[in-house]
Amino acid sequence: MQLTNRAKPVDRKPLSIAEKIYLPAVLKGMGITFSHIFKKKVTINYPEETRPFSPVFRGLHILNRDEEGRENCTACGLCAVACPAEAITMDAAERLPGEENLYREEKYAAKYEINMLRCIFCGLCEEACPKDAIYLTETFAPANYSRKSFVYGKDNLVIPHPKENPEAFAKAKGLIDERKAKANQAK
Ligand code: SF4
Ligand code: SF4
Repeated sequence: MQLTNRAKPVDRKPLSIAEKIYLPAVLKGMGITFSHIFKKKVTINYPEETRPFSPVFRGLHILNRDEEGRENCTACGLCAVACPAEAITMDAAERLPGEENLYREEKYAAKYEINMLRCIFCGLCEEACPKDAIYLTETFAPANYSRKSFVYGKDNLVIPHPKENPEAFAKAKGLIDERKAKANQAK
């Protein structure tokens, strides 16, 4: 019994000689393959080659330090409030006497975490920050096997210390300056 009228009869006609020897089909397939040799490649040899990022690309976050190496973040929580994915969590702590060289403000983030699996890289945290502390860069989280490893803490986020690792600091600062320049251009 036929339930619908969508059924199509199967074509069961016997194969022709050309179809039986498969040669014309193989040659047709090879013709298609060879025709692509002279066309511009759409693929690249990643990771040796990378494509340029879009000027508006937003990637992994970094937490900024000032030129003296003090952390900018004052744990105000504005980034966490602005985050639509609720990806940011932090614990605030008060700076103790003698810690002025570590933290720029009287309050700082003792713990600061971003869950990169929740993050949608919208950049709202960067826009909400009043302390020039959080920036999104042109890098992305490397692949990993465990979900836990995508919760980035301060050890992953805070940029290197300018006195302990000046080269890495300059590189990280460069990313921030680039981002600022692009933001100014877009205005
Ligand atoms: S980029 Fe957007 S989603 Fe990701 S942590 Fe910042 S505010 Fe949240
Ligand atoms: S990163 Fe900026 S907005 Fe977020 S808690 Fe630190 S100072 Fe506040």
